[in-house]
Amino acid sequence: MEKTKRLRAALLSSPGMGHLVPVIELGKRLVADHGFEATVFVLPSRAAHAEAEIIESAMIPKLLNIVELPPPDLSAAGLGPDATVGTRLVVMMREARPAFRSVLAAMEAKPDVLIVDLFGTEHLCIGDELGIPKYVYVTSNAWYLALFIYSPTLDKEVKGEYVERTEPLEIPGCKPVRPEDVVDPMLDRSDQQYREYVRRAGELSMGDGILMNVWEDLQAETLAALRNEEFLGRVLSVPVYTVGPLIRPVRPAGLGTELIEWLDKQPSESVLFVSFGSGGTMSGEQLVELAWGLELSQQRFVWVLRKPTVKSLDGSFFDVGKGGVGDEVSSFLPSGFMERTHNIGFIIPSWAPQMDILNHPSVGGFLSHCGWNSTLESIVNGVPMVAWPLYAEQRLNATLLTEEIGVAVRPKELPSKKIVGREEIEKLVRTIMVEKEGHMIRARVKELKSKAEKALTKGGTSYESLSKMKEDCRMRIHHIKKAH
Ligand code: UDP
Repeated sequence: MEKTKRLRAALLSSPGMGHLVPVIELGKRLVADHGFEATVFVLPSRAAHAEAEIIESAMIPKLLNIVELPPPDLSAAGLGPDATVGTRLVVMMREARPAFRSVLAAMEAKPDVLIVDLFGTEHLCIGDELGIPKYVYVTSNAWYLALFIYSPTLDKEVKGEYVERTEPLEIPGCKPVRPEDVVDPMLDRSDQQYREYVRRAGELSMGDGILMNVWEDLQAETLAALRNEEFLGRVLSVPVYTVGPLIRPVRPAGLGTELIEWLDKQPSESVLFVSFGSGGTMSGEQLVELAWGLELSQQRFVWVLRKPTVKSLDGSFFDVGKGGVGDEVSSFLPSGFMERTHNIGFIIPSWAPQMDILNHPSVGGFLSHCGWNSTLESIVNGVPMVAWPLYAEQRLNATLLTEEIGVAVRPKELPSKKIVGREEIEKLVRTIMVEKEGHMIRARVKELKSKAEKALTKGGTSYESLSKMKEDCRMRIHHIKKAH
């Protein structure tokens, strides 16, 4: 009897589009392909509009339930005004634990398995309290996970700031990490987000397994290192399941009339899409250089434009989709830019239907901040990239995409360190859109696109990996029951 019962999965997403999107997609996959029932628990951020849109579209067809947790009370959490996005996320998740626990306890049908994302490791204990298996969903790539799980060791072995080192950080069995590529929490070891990061890394093995949004042959060597006892397998003592690429589906009506009419008129693969994820922002000076670079490249473009900021590179993380720059748009751009690019450019304030744009046949390049979801969306649509990393693990992603996977070009210096000038931008855009090097990269992305599709179909590695995770889950449920 046990074998035929549908398993009920409870999935917990931390705030932010980049977490919500892959968690919802995992939930849908569990239901559609593996016979689970799934409820996704969402911790609302202030990105109400964009989140609501994602949640709404996840309901068609209605495969899963989505439950919004009450916003946690952060008044006693000791969050200073300068707390980083990373610290805020961790603290919000921690403070949401009592609410999550009571919502689960009040559920009529208790979940059989708990899946949290990488900011939710402090919720794994709830799985133990309920006597159910629990897994961590790492919504990024294998190299990121390698650095993450190895960071408690680096913390013990490396003295001083990582970013001040001249030598790369050696990770057993993996490509070493250049000091400038470390993830945001590793930039300042005295900051609260670093301590939280190292602690969370130690908690990863408290789960019964790790799910990752990649597929096997995308990062075969790194995955092998994660599983090999001689390398990272001794640190990460739980199985790694590759389940990706799990990305938002294309919505035929998502583009809106004006944009679709414009895109339909452009030649095939001739448009560069320019967007920096949900959080990415840049300085006014950089914005002007980017505008000039696009204009000088003489390539068509669709640009998701945000108000510049000097605050931080992830300045809109908690405000995404909130209003646009609207009429203010031209005030940030070089004088006459809108008029001069009128025929070749399309500007969208603040937030755009990214997946639908990347899927349009006229789109042939993506200047991207290299968030992992954006990266996967680009690959799955066969679109080569100009990598423009800003925050979180994006510097690492940019290096992976240019030096290992071979689907992108990038500026010589990190945009987070130095303004990228208009001539360099012009060259990068032309390289990806029209030069021979760009053609080769495009061919490589298309090859990956078909491998990614294959991985997800029945018999493919990602499909089978999720089946294995389900088997593992049933076995654990059985053992837990037997022990009681
Ligand atoms: N996104 C979108 N429209 C925008 C910006 C972002 O639909 O204008 C979506 C994008 O398609 C992706 C997610 O939001 O699914 C962003 O996730 P990613 O990991 O790329 O970056 P993050 O926002 O977490 O930095």
